[in-house]
Amino acid sequence: RAKENGKNSYQFFTDEMAFTSSRKIALENDLRRAITYDEFILHYQPQVQTSTGEIIGMEALIRWQKAAGDVISPGEFIPLAEETRLILPMGEWVLYTACRQAKEWHDAGFSQLKLAVNLSPLQFAQDDLLYTIEQALEQTGFPASSLELEITESVAVDDAEKAIFRMQALRQLGVQIAIDDFGTGYSSLSYLKRFPLNNLKIAQPFVQDMAANLDDKALVEAMIFIAHSLDMSVIAEGVETEEQLALLKELDCDEIQGYFYSKPLTAEKFTALLASGLSSQSVM
Ligand code: C2E
Ligand code: MG
Ligand code: MG
Ligand code: MG
Repeated sequence: RAKENGKNSYQFFTDEMAFTSSRKIALENDLRRAITYDEFILHYQPQVQTSTGEIIGMEALIRWQKAAGDVISPGEFIPLAEETRLILPMGEWVLYTACRQAKEWHDAGFSQLKLAVNLSPLQFAQDDLLYTIEQALEQTGFPASSLELEITESVAVDDAEKAIFRMQALRQLGVQIAIDDFGTGYSSLSYLKRFPLNNLKIAQPFVQDMAANLDDKALVEAMIFIAHSLDMSVIAEGVETEEQLALLKELDCDEIQGYFYSKPLTAEKFTALLASGLSSQSVM
């Protein structure tokens, strides 16, 4: 391609770019192998009812556990997985694994738990999305009404009408839809009105700055007010301090998720947390 544009174009391919792209190819190969060799695991982060301190659900978050033992966070491989479309088999694995695990927790007596799974924009745009979700629910026996799909505003950039239509179809399946990282994208308010959403997740930066910054506090308050007016519940992400929690309680935020309560846990540790009884009593 560069050649077509004349000899000078070669100059664009600097050493640095060549290095970046060969690293990328190596990472892509690693990523492909990781799928084959089952190197992904899910962690689960509790979602807690603000008023009672009860665990009412959990978000499944993917990690890459390399053979050598180091754990790689999704921020480092999800973008490349999107670019290479490897996110599609990966996302399907996440859906099945999380539903199977959550079904176990339901069967163990924690049947009130809601499972939140992140859907990448590419997954959301697949024509067989509905079928994939339906199959995962059917084959794992997990109830649709306990599944919440987390999407971001970016699903609507290409074709908002199509995205809304798709969300409505998902809702008809019985699953819930949450808008993730709310406040960081575009056109937030108009989308809020038009998307059939159950839950709004306030993005971390607002939550983390709200104790120190009155503007952020005002924004959080406004987001909660608007969400409630549109009959949605609100969850604050990235709650790290007691002070943030107190403010969120005061502002009538329905749920919280963050290190203050718990970091994302392995399934084993999450099971232990449930069994400890903390899920059914106030710890905050
Ligand atoms: P997200 O969906 O917004 O998930 C919340 C992120 O915030 C998680 O990062 C979580 O560990 C982190 N977090 C939770 N509480 C706190 C806190 O109190 N303080 C701070 N500083 N961070 C907190 P994680 O697990 O690294 O995931 C990052 C992003 O990667 C996710 O953001 C999501 O967009 C994406 N991701 C993770 N798992 C999946 C997946 O299975 N599929 C897809 N498509 N994306 C995923
Ligand atoms: Mg999320
Ligand atoms: Mg988020
Ligand atoms: Mg909800």
